[in-house]
Amino acid sequence: MTKRTDKGTTRIGYINTHGQKNLGRTEPQRAGTDHCQYVYILQCSKCGHKYGSNGSDIFQRKCPSCQGGRTGHNNIKNQNENSKNTMEKSKMRLPRCLTGT
Ligand SMILES: [Zn+2]
Repeated sequence: MTKRTDKGTTRIGYINTHGQKNLGRTEPQRAGTDHCQYVYILQCSKCGHKYGSNGSDIFQRKCPSCQGGRTGHNNIKNQNENSKNTMEKSKMRLPRCLTGT
C-alpha cells in the first residue's frame, strides 16, 4: 500500500510556495479527479481567486486566474445553490476508500 500523501498540505491554513491557501474541504465533500482524493478549496493570496483542487495537488497548485495554473474544480461554485439533494447524492458517489474510514 502507498502512504497517504499527508504532508500538512491538507490542513486548513496551509499556504504553498505559490501563495495558494488551503481553506479546507468542500462541503459537501466531493471526490476529486485523482483516486481517493477529496476536493479542497484553495484561495490565491495574490488575487483572492477561489477554486477547487485535489488534496494531492495542493502543494504544487498555481492560481488558475493569475499564475496560469490548471482550471480548478468548477463544481465548488454550485455548492450552495443545489442544497440537500446534491449533498446526499454526492455522498453516495464518494468511492469507498473515502467513506469507509
Ligand atoms: Zn491568483
